[in-house]
Amino acid sequence: MLKKMTTIHWFRKGLRLHDNPALLASVEENCELRPLFILDPWFVTNARVGSNRWRFLAQTLADLDIKLRDLGSRLFIARGTPEELFPKLFKDWNVQKLTWEVDTEPYSCIRDEKIEKLAKDHNVKVVCRVGHTLYSTEKIIQANLGKTPLTYQSMQSLVSRMGHPPKPVDSLSSLPGSCRINNAMAVNAKYNLPTLAELGVDEGSLQPCLYPGGETEALRRLDKYMMRKTWVCKFEKPKTSPNSLQPSTTVLSPYLKFGCLSPRTMYFRLLEVYKNNSHTQPPVSLLGQLLWREFFYTVGAKTPNFNRMEGNPICRQIPWVRNEKLMKAWEFVFEELLLDADWSLNAGNWMWLSASAFFHQYFRVYSPIAFGKHTDKHGEYIRKYLPQLSKYPDNYIYEPWKAPLSTQKAAGCIIGQDYPKPIVKARHHLQTETLQTRR
Ligand SMILES: Cc1cc2nc3c(=O)[nH]c(=O)nc-3n(C[C@H](O)[C@H](O)[C@H](O)COP(=O)(O)OP(=O)(O)OC[C@H]3O[C@@H](n4cnc5c(N)ncnc54)[C@H](O)[C@@H]3O)c2cc1C
Repeated sequence: MLKKMTTIHWFRKGLRLHDNPALLASVEENCELRPLFILDPWFVTNARVGSNRWRFLAQTLADLDIKLRDLGSRLFIARGTPEELFPKLFKDWNVQKLTWEVDTEPYSCIRDEKIEKLAKDHNVKVVCRVGHTLYSTEKIIQANLGKTPLTYQSMQSLVSRMGHPPKPVDSLSSLPGSCRINNAMAVNAKYNLPTLAELGVDEGSLQPCLYPGGETEALRRLDKYMMRKTWVCKFEKPKTSPNSLQPSTTVLSPYLKFGCLSPRTMYFRLLEVYKNNSHTQPPVSLLGQLLWREFFYTVGAKTPNFNRMEGNPICRQIPWVRNEKLMKAWEFVFEELLLDADWSLNAGNWMWLSASAFFHQYFRVYSPIAFGKHTDKHGEYIRKYLPQLSKYPDNYIYEPWKAPLSTQKAAGCIIGQDYPKPIVKARHHLQTETLQTRR
């Protein structure tokens, strides 16, 4: 008997059913659909991903699986590298088409080029669609005559010439019978969801879950914020509180990062809220924040070594002192602990914040001391996340090494003994600045 032909939709980011043009392309031919997510065990062991982010991913995959099962399908989790897995899947599943969402990160581009070649060798048609960004980053660069825009203002004027991004496409809300899977496939445990233990997460060490992963929660959260019309219309990024204990912004970033939320869906929901209401404008508005995202994605897509200083043509070359131990301590925090760690946004924002790229006025670099004193006088954030310092008086909370020994003793934390001495010595008097003057 002839094997049924199938189409694979490869979920990487874009972990959603709404506004997913690549997913819609996977059901065009009415072939059986195999929604696939590849879990590469190498990442589980080696990637700097903390327990909270793994949990977010596990929750996201579980949410997607439930939604797909409601449509008569499921999520297939395959373990291995894409290069090893695809040739086998192409044969075993009699695949005729493979779809995925465009990913502009260099690692993904190299991987996708290889998979495209493998697909060609196996006579599998590949269809890719843009969905992770508002526009195609290629089209933005083409509109700029082949040059990458390097200022927010140039980005803004380019996109205003291009007009609004494409409208979100329909959600995948039903599947034709021919695209559904049979019972044997539905219960095949080989492709089951990963457990937290498989992701290397010690469940006992998990913090309470404040931001559950998944499309369901992403859309709920988007709705919740879009209902606060006055707040949305008055939103100004400089006037939010980056170090407050309760978030002063939407916390949609992990959902956008994993693609549980489509940026275009958010964009058009914002336009609905703005309609007939006066509202703030980019760069400070909420829509302006989506353009920051788009800006860093666009620059990241075409700048060699965007996440490094060396070999990065837009980054100022600074003869840093090399200290591997300190470097590791730094990376540990920023790659591992962020729930929304995003290659393009992280690199772009660090270059921005350090005045290494886009502009170079060193005196515009934030001082962690002056900025903190200005925005969180009592150091509540430090007291919560650095409990060793929690008993310091307000006037020393940002510079505990300056406190007299008697104060250090009274606070129960002697600097150099119970808490490390500062590792960076300020050469310049760094001024306090708000984002408003910067952006
Ligand atoms: C040093 C540094 C590193 C950062 N690293 C990351 C990162 O790894 N991942 C990440 O998602 N964000 C990063 N950001 C940007 C920003 O801090 C987060 O996007 C923001 O805090 C997310 O909160 P929110 O969703 O409540 O944002 P909101 O203010 O509600 O904005 C809505 C969306 O706009 C986008 N956005 C907002 N601010 C920025 C910005 N500065 N740059 C680009 N896009 C933005 C995000 O997608 C965000 O979800 C970084 C910022 C700095 C200063």
